[in-house]
Amino acid sequence: MGTTSLMDMLRRGIDAHGAWASNWEDFSPDGTLAVSEADAHAALDALSERLRENYPFFHPDYAGQMIKPPHPVAIAAYMTAMLVNPNNHALDGGPATARMELDAVEDIARMFGLPTHLGHLTSGGTMANIEALWVGRTLHPDKAVAYSSAAHYTHQRMCGVLQIPSREIRTDGNGRMDLGELEDALRSGGIGTIVATMGTTSLGAVDPLDRIIPLAKRYGARVHADAAYGGFFMLCAAQDPVPIHAAPFHSLKECDSIVVDPHKHGLQPYGCGCILFRDPSVGTLYKHESPYTYFTSKELHLGEISLECSRAGASAAALWCTLQCLPLRSDKGLGPIVAATRAAALEWSALAKHSSVVLPFTSPDLDIVTYLPRTEPFSASMVSAATEKIFRALMERKEHPIYVATLTVDAGAIYNTYPSFHADQPTAVIFRSVLMKPEHRHTVGTLFHEIEAMIAPS
Ligand SMILES: *Cc1c(COP(=O)(O)O)cnc(C)c1O
Repeated sequence: MGTTSLMDMLRRGIDAHGAWASNWEDFSPDGTLAVSEADAHAALDALSERLRENYPFFHPDYAGQMIKPPHPVAIAAYMTAMLVNPNNHALDGGPATARMELDAVEDIARMFGLPTHLGHLTSGGTMANIEALWVGRTLHPDKAVAYSSAAHYTHQRMCGVLQIPSREIRTDGNGRMDLGELEDALRSGGIGTIVATMGTTSLGAVDPLDRIIPLAKRYGARVHADAAYGGFFMLCAAQDPVPIHAAPFHSLKECDSIVVDPHKHGLQPYGCGCILFRDPSVGTLYKHESPYTYFTSKELHLGEISLECSRAGASAAALWCTLQCLPLRSDKGLGPIVAATRAAALEWSALAKHSSVVLPFTSPDLDIVTYLPRTEPFSASMVSAATEKIFRALMERKEHPIYVATLTVDAGAIYNTYPSFHADQPTAVIFRSVLMKPEHRHTVGTLFHEIEAMIAPS
């Protein structure tokens, strides 16, 4: 059995759509819509030219930000459904894709082990998180949201939008929420919701959810897991040998709500987040009446349980179709894909530990690695200057360019790990690489040595 090509899948989708459309009386598109072949080609060629400005996100030599293209199955499914352009706000707008959304969301809820759930897709993690914060505010009016200083910046912004007070909790040396400070905040009262980040955007650090849940129970706070980035590493938690610290992931099923972004580690195009609530009765909080939507069925419409109205049914189609081919399983489908990215990070970490040129900043919880050049003198200003210089030089190489990212960190945090470090300025710029492609497992050694050679040419 051969693997299929994107072109083959796209053609199948276009042909099937044509066959379906031919059930209706033929008509000619209105003249106002006509575009000449020359104009279309010119515009598309100009588009392709402008798109060349992008970094090669698809390539394993791109080990920078959290970004990679969707799986070809997702692309073909998205486009096939987009030819219909269903709207998943209501069953009238997209009956088929609304059902696919419910199926895909159920698969995700099952992956986390939620005993019951209510959930739906969103345009992304930010929208999914705002729903969780909004439900938290409704159930705990006037109480604050606590999140760590490494939580995604949009939590603070969304608390502002929702006018919820917020408390920032310090992180420990590994970038995880400090439990002592969290308990102090809980003890002082007034915390309604704790946001635990399962994979911070900077370091990929996983908050100790297994220890946060009992604290939250003791003080009567809700727990929301922002697993936008790290959620799919749930599939690693049941692998043998287990490649991650699994305890926080096993506690996800006890959270009041979970956000995960299929458009990050779920192989989807942008426009695909997901919010899950463990208690389905929160659906009543969204209640609204609208005279012009929802009239074909008594079933629950997705628009009745989400803050957004119009959403691409094609997103649900893409996710649903991807999960048919690559299911949410530990032993096949998405499990081995995320396990490969984790293996790449572990190998990177081992190489950095033994390197005379590069130092690890923290040891990775997931597949994001952070590292810094050893410099002489070993100071924040020297490390920052060297990092910036090498970051550019790697990218600008004529042969074999390599793309990494940089991260600004507290200079004191480096000093805490490396006492010979001189914190001569408050922050330092270091390297960050998100090794989120399974191919990184095979290329990580070469990447590492290329970066080493750039830092210390022999
Ligand atoms: C990416 C991310 C978000 C924001 O999600 P978007 O899909 O970009 O809106 C929130 N939290 C975490 C932990 C993230 O990694």
